[in-house]
Amino acid sequence: MPLRKYPSLEEWNNHIELDANSWPKKVEKIYSLVPTTCFNCESACGLLAYVDKESGEVARFEGNPHHPGSRGRNCAKGPATINQIKDTERILHPMKRVGKRGDGKWEQIPWSQALEEIASKIRDSLNTGARDKVVYHVGRPGHEGFTNRVLKAWGVDGHNSHTNICSAGARLGYALWHHHDRPSPDHANAKVILLCSSHLETGHYFNPHAQRILEGMMDGAKLIVIDPRLSNTASMADHWVPTWPGSETALFLCWAKMIVEKGLYNREFMETQVNWAQWLEIEHADGPQTFERFIELLLEEYAEYTPEFAAKECRIPVEQVIEVGEIVANSGTQLCTHVWRAAAIGNLGGWQVSRSLHFLNVLTGSVGTVGGTSPNSWSKFKPEFFDNPPDPAGWNELHFPPEYTMSHFEMSHILPHLIKDGRGSMDVYFTRVFNPVWTYPDGFSWIEMLNDTEKVGCHIAMTPTWNETAFFADYVLPMGHSSERHDINSYATSSGKWVAFRQPVLREFARREGKDVEFTHEVNPGEVWEEDEFWNELSLKIDPDGSMGIKKHFMSPYREGETINIDEYYRYIFDRVPGLPEAAEVEDTDPLGYMRKHGAFLIEEATYKKYEKEGWATPSGKQEFYSPTMIEFGYPEHAVPHYRVMSQVHPSKLQGENEFCLLPNFRLPMHIHSRSANAKWLVEIAHKNPIWIHPKDANKLGVEEGGLLKIETEIGWFVDKVWVTEAIKPGVVGCSHHIGRWRRKQDAGNRMMTNTVSIENRGNGKWRMRTVAGIEPFESDDPDTNRLFWRDGGVHQNITHAVQPDPISGHHCWLQKVKLSTPKDGEEYGDVEVDTEKSFAYYKKWNQMAKDRETHPRGERRPLWMKRPLSPQKKYWYMNQEEE
Ligand code: SF4
Repeated sequence: MPLRKYPSLEEWNNHIELDANSWPKKVEKIYSLVPTTCFNCESACGLLAYVDKESGEVARFEGNPHHPGSRGRNCAKGPATINQIKDTERILHPMKRVGKRGDGKWEQIPWSQALEEIASKIRDSLNTGARDKVVYHVGRPGHEGFTNRVLKAWGVDGHNSHTNICSAGARLGYALWHHHDRPSPDHANAKVILLCSSHLETGHYFNPHAQRILEGMMDGAKLIVIDPRLSNTASMADHWVPTWPGSETALFLCWAKMIVEKGLYNREFMETQVNWAQWLEIEHADGPQTFERFIELLLEEYAEYTPEFAAKECRIPVEQVIEVGEIVANSGTQLCTHVWRAAAIGNLGGWQVSRSLHFLNVLTGSVGTVGGTSPNSWSKFKPEFFDNPPDPAGWNELHFPPEYTMSHFEMSHILPHLIKDGRGSMDVYFTRVFNPVWTYPDGFSWIEMLNDTEKVGCHIAMTPTWNETAFFADYVLPMGHSSERHDINSYATSSGKWVAFRQPVLREFARREGKDVEFTHEVNPGEVWEEDEFWNELSLKIDPDGSMGIKKHFMSPYREGETINIDEYYRYIFDRVPGLPEAAEVEDTDPLGYMRKHGAFLIEEATYKKYEKEGWATPSGKQEFYSPTMIEFGYPEHAVPHYRVMSQVHPSKLQGENEFCLLPNFRLPMHIHSRSANAKWLVEIAHKNPIWIHPKDANKLGVEEGGLLKIETEIGWFVDKVWVTEAIKPGVVGCSHHIGRWRRKQDAGNRMMTNTVSIENRGNGKWRMRTVAGIEPFESDDPDTNRLFWRDGGVHQNITHAVQPDPISGHHCWLQKVKLSTPKDGEEYGDVEVDTEKSFAYYKKWNQMAKDRETHPRGERRPLWMKRPLSPQKKYWYMNQEEE
């Protein structure tokens, strides 16, 4: 048989290949190939599960060539799904705590008991009339609106997310321009690709973007990467621009000025799509109201952003500012830009970074063009549901406190501090694929909050693997990995619009074999379930007789008087995907059948220039260079893009002895935030997180490769080993965000990548963590667990970080001002100490910045035209609800 890339679709029900393990004998294996999507980052690339027809088990995962985003390819994390589902230490059954919360003692309970008990607690809370005390806090969402529909059916403003430690900084910058809050670069067709981040590694659209960047580069595109760290992406770039963290805005505004000065702006786009006339009318009424005058005023407005100024702020050679600026200025409509996490989530004022980056697209007219950058929502499919419950009648001030008027997402990173501040409490708190004790800054404050049963009445951790947050739960519910659950996915990974179907592959295999399955946990390992069916069944348990008005939102649209099942839920949505019914008909199936078979569907080949039909959903109906919203909400100095806020790690703020900027918000490309700990192939590649330090700084501090440094933050310190490398900018030290996992002696799971630690609460907010043992081989059904050769599991740095909520966008400013020194006697590798009283005082200081500028024009809590996830009814958007 000739070599080919993928088995043809006709063979997917009966694919025969020779078993490699039986070589040199020629033993045939027969597989059913079932498509699903990866859950190990947001991209939702296609996977193809090879189900062994004899054993009925998944043997491996490969790429799904029918997926328009990933086109048959995956990064290392995709195929490693097999490690996750075969993890010998995964949670297989619902667990309920025994003893005190956090003691680490559990009993296995049946799903029926878990549903009854949790439903009764939710019912009790809802019956009090509260609309903000049942909360769903999500880490990796991976679905389109399923849970928001459920929360609306319950009538609670109960959605919380991880976004303010992730993308929220960038989102505000984009939203100010055009309401859409994310970029979608068309890398494959670009002339210039400008990345202000190591975003390929940090997880956003890693594989789909990487393959298109390569295509663009093979076609002659220049790759520019702005990052103080030589990331893998930067190492492949034509130009690595290692800016000082937080200075990026100065650089972009300098390049903006260069474009205007050289006359390289796109007059047609600017003149027709930008609200320049509004700026002239309000701010410059005394002169001619012409486009020419606007250009003159632009040059005046941005006069200060010279190459010399940018070079000084960025601490890079002025020649580099000019050389790379020339490339950007001459990119025309084929300028692809992207910022994700990185500078936009690292710094006070990080939202300025995306705002000024998008300015370059506006000036060059590369918004929505072939080879340019489009708003992501143009490429995103939004499902139509069988039932739409009303929006919640309430406003959750623990999620959107009134002083954070422009916060684009929930203030989740200060939840423990708001609760400590007496702002509220929670009756029922779901953490879902979410591990804030470990992932978030100031994890000891999370432990304090979770241990307080007055403040958190019931904590339910929904997770496929044990994690540091689940240790402090009342119930731990085992949820499926990517091949064990249903979800719909659609992301702006390319210039087209697609929808993909994550399906539990053993359920589809059972269907192909003619077996009936009622619930997904019947076919998954142990009793592992999926959220979709869990939420439906839980909702019916909360309101079994329909008297609370919840049950009616879970009735089948196809069977009168019966409750909905999961196939009907997806059938309803897929029947309404444009073009899908027709494509299904060609293959003599229905839309659900098509999605089960192919796993994905391309809705639109390309989504360029949608503004020509849709316009811009801003108050002016234009791209808002000038933002009256910013003025109304008390920030007139930010009416137009500027570099007016200095980062908390600006060099002028690092004046103490041996003070450095700690860059903690990058990750190694083979790790998933907190779910790769027992993905053995991934852990084998990387399992420790040393401090990256430039040779000049290492010399100054007298530390050598492998030596120890004590890193002091505003609230505590940790001790880490050193990696001396020129891949980091002098004055900046780096530490990977996704390693340093731990468990205590009494905790289970993740032994391939967790140190055993002791945690000591020394009173008055003083906490200490010590490494008791590193990683050790262990016996299990998988012989590989006894072959672990690594011992060093790294250090938990995040727990020593102070929370730093940006007063405008609300995002956490990840970069930390740190002091470096040689550890004292008795301070060992892996030691961590934190004072949560200091962290609370520090939170208060940052919180005050928002309070000082709190303004509510017309009584609005936040701008009515901006997005909010799970929006309450409009009248609750006002401080005084009468003012609708
Ligand atoms: S890029 Fe993301 S979705 Fe795609 S294979 Fe890697 S982890 Fe999975």
